[in-house]
Amino acid sequence: MKLIILGLLLTINIPVSYGRSVDGDFVISRVTKANNKLDSYLMGREIALTLVLLPELGNELKVTINEDDKSLNAFATFDDQSNPLIIVNRGLLDHEEMTKELLDLFLCHEMGHLSGGDPKLVRRNGKLSWSSVEGQADYFATQICMDFLGYSEEQILHQSITFASLIAKLKGHSKLPKIDTPESYNVSRTLQTHPTPQCRLDTLVAGLRSKPRPHCWFNPMELD
Ligand SMILES: [Zn+2]
Repeated sequence: MKLIILGLLLTINIPVSYGRSVDGDFVISRVTKANNKLDSYLMGREIALTLVLLPELGNELKVTINEDDKSLNAFATFDDQSNPLIIVNRGLLDHEEMTKELLDLFLCHEMGHLSGGDPKLVRRNGKLSWSSVEGQADYFATQICMDFLGYSEEQILHQSITFASLIAKLKGHSKLPKIDTPESYNVSRTLQTHPTPQCRLDTLVAGLRSKPRPHCWFNPMELD
């Protein structure tokens, strides 16, 4: 039933306000015409992803494209009306390996920063940020978000491998992450930065299969 409602909502074209500069490092501009096949798909995801967010934040999600940044990246933040905001770089949308399905996994990772819960990032002043740590964002992406968007277990697994492999290639790793070669080390403190591509794949698979969070980034003792 949920999926039928979602499908209907996606056909409604809701105008969205312009994005704003978040921290002055880059200018955010709204696309006025779709110059990439994924642009219109991305904008259509605002409503679907808002439904993922609603129980947690109760606010409408905004998505904007940062046309000036050609790097493969996306960010989660809040706009000046406290709406959750996902900024997607032009470089991510234009990447030759980008597909709607892979874009959804990137978006679900950003959703994980907004809605993923504990463990959260610790700010320099020692206080907790609103944002879940990177590992938790990955875990939320496959445990909650991709399933909510209607993907099958097989599809989520395929996109998880594609996602982790793409990141490994961009980082210049010669060994690509695989399902059957999980990281074997345990962190002494929950990681505040991006885990290794293999650890990220381990986390995406753990989320998908509702297994505990891998200890290559997560230390459960810190949540006590
Ligand atoms: Zn992230």
